[in-house]
Amino acid sequence: MTTSLQQIVDVAERLWPPSLAEEWDNPGLAVGDRAATVTHVHLALDATAETLAEARRSGAQMLLTHHPALFRPVRTLDAASATGGLLFAAARDGVALFSAHTNADSAPGGVNAVLADLIGLRDQRPLVPADDANADAGLGRLGRLPAGTTLGEFASDIARVLPSTASQVRVSGDFEREVSTVSLCSGAGDSLLQLPQVQATDVYVTADLRHHVTLDARAEGLPAVVNLSHWASEWVWLPVAARQLAEHLPQVRFTVSDLRTDPWDFAIAQ
Ligand SMILES: [Zn+2]
Repeated sequence: MTTSLQQIVDVAERLWPPSLAEEWDNPGLAVGDRAATVTHVHLALDATAETLAEARRSGAQMLLTHHPALFRPVRTLDAASATGGLLFAAARDGVALFSAHTNADSAPGGVNAVLADLIGLRDQRPLVPADDANADAGLGRLGRLPAGTTLGEFASDIARVLPSTASQVRVSGDFEREVSTVSLCSGAGDSLLQLPQVQATDVYVTADLRHHVTLDARAEGLPAVVNLSHWASEWVWLPVAARQLAEHLPQVRFTVSDLRTDPWDFAIAQ
């Protein structure tokens, strides 16, 4: 029995419905022939020259990523350009590019839910519920820890379960402060920092936080913030996504890239 690219897209879009994507987003199929046969799908967080080469070397006919390959307008498919070159190479080498981005963030069991599970959050619910019949759908997660702990221990526990990166786990708040209620948003979570439901928790966990928004949030009363590597906070979703796809498509091989596409290569401790 052969499996077409379209059959894989159908399963992916049932797991991570495009209707859950943010308005500004562009998930879905970027490159590919929906009728083509696919026996092997490679998963990575980002579509880069390196992850595409890895997919090609492993014999995969599809690279499924979290971040869309096509996001900003592309003016050329010049093989020497960044995005245009990637699209050119994918088409030339017969590797389809597909992404599940904010739709996978908001889906039940998706990126945010995986991070919340890993942190051990109980009584999880979305931070910003989706306009959807499923109450588990929505951006970010709220929950509580099974037992109160200190902010320092909490951040150390997260550092242990995430892949290590130069970005590390940085914390704003007192090490000894007691924390039990948690809000989180995998990936860049600046935009949710001012929400009252975030401010009401003991600690907000996200990535890519900037200086001023973090200072403002602290001044407005948010007790503590844990800033993760964007890549690490979302990479943890990939093995779960691969398992979910394989349950529906047992005849297809799914592999997960462990290439670190976190852009930071090293840090100097001071
Ligand atoms: Zn992201």
